[in-house]
Amino acid sequence: MKANAGNAAGIQKKKMQGYVGFSNYPNQVHRRSVKRGFNFTLMVVGESGIGKSTLINTLFDTKIFPDREEMPPSAEPIKGVDVTSMSADIQENGVKLRLTVVDTPGFGDSINNEDAWQPILENIESRFDAYLAQENRVNRSKISDNRIDAVIYFIKPTGHCLRAIDIEFMKRLHTKVNLIPIVAKADTLTARELELFKAKIMADINYHGIQIFKPVSDEFDDPETVSDNREILSKIPFAVIGSEKLVERPDGTMVRGRRYPWGIIEVENEEHNDFIKLRQMLLRSHMEELKDSTDMVLYENYRTQKLLSMGHVQDNNVFREFNPLVQLEEERRAHEAKMQKMEAEMTAVFQQKVQEKESKLKLSEEELYARHKEMKTVLEKQRAELDDKKKRAEASVRPITPMEQHPTKGKKKNIFSGF
Ligand code: GDP
Repeated sequence: MKANAGNAAGIQKKKMQGYVGFSNYPNQVHRRSVKRGFNFTLMVVGESGIGKSTLINTLFDTKIFPDREEMPPSAEPIKGVDVTSMSADIQENGVKLRLTVVDTPGFGDSINNEDAWQPILENIESRFDAYLAQENRVNRSKISDNRIDAVIYFIKPTGHCLRAIDIEFMKRLHTKVNLIPIVAKADTLTARELELFKAKIMADINYHGIQIFKPVSDEFDDPETVSDNREILSKIPFAVIGSEKLVERPDGTMVRGRRYPWGIIEVENEEHNDFIKLRQMLLRSHMEELKDSTDMVLYENYRTQKLLSMGHVQDNNVFREFNPLVQLEEERRAHEAKMQKMEAEMTAVFQQKVQEKESKLKLSEEELYARHKEMKTVLEKQRAELDDKKKRAEASVRPITPMEQHPTKGKKKNIFSGF
């Protein structure tokens, strides 16, 4: 092998001389994924009658939403916003897909739609919470992923600009889901009206800083993918029509579409609407990217915020798994460190006290010694004075004559001397 110049990260590019086989890895992944099947969870949001069920059934070419006549009549009209979901296993060319469509009946149907986004946001977050709880389990071999991979937000074809409810909804949810705004029932607007409406929608979205899902190309994409992505991007927000019915074209072929007195509008005709581009992005080219974006960006952000709010800390940009055992171990270590600190403080205080006592004792010892010395000096001085006095006294005393000593001795006592 011959080494090429290293790149910026210091990793060298090497040329291989023969086939070793890892290029088969994508096929292995493909086989494994085909065997396991895929999950895809799609949420639809828009007021009732805007065409949600028709579009979903058209997109998957399956009756995901049953006909209204087949649905059991609800006892009471829905108050507020409800969140319901339905799953279907569909298969195409041997590839299994577990599709879950989450519907939000009641959204935008009330007179006051101020908090219509709230139950939907709660539902999305509760799915994140359920996933987080599973991740934190000791046994994580079977994690069921019910997180929403994308939300198709149906914009009413008013031709004006976004309504307050649209802006509020998108602003509240854009950091939690991959938003795909679409103009519903695009056949109700002329081509010119649609063009202007789309421009206004994008201006509003940009003005309000709303993030919507967009296909992005990178340096690894081939020119074809780059051009496909550019085309998809140019159609956002997709203006779509839905129809589960087949209509006859002038050439006699049957196609999905809507019939009008002046002609037919075909669902799968790029000249007529953006259905093909929406389907391409959602199901054919960016399904995995939507799932990745949910997992690595939206969920990861949510998880980070959630764990931080629970008092966890992030080390070197790497989050430790939220594991109760790890947490206990951390708490034990923190407690030990605290005890050690307390012990060290107590030892320091004790040593200081001993030192103080010692110096006090030393001081009193010195004082005693000084006092003793002083007294000794005084006593010695007194003694010296006394000695001196004694000497002087002795020196001043003359020897006593025997007479003086015995004045009556040798002298006859005159017995009459008194007379
Ligand atoms: P949902 O309540 O949002 O699920 O709306 P539906 O899918 O049940 O559609 C309500 C009505 O709108 C039905 O009569 C549909 O046939 C019609 N509809 C659905 N999609 C379109 C569309 O793209 N264009 C037009 N003109 N009508 C549509």
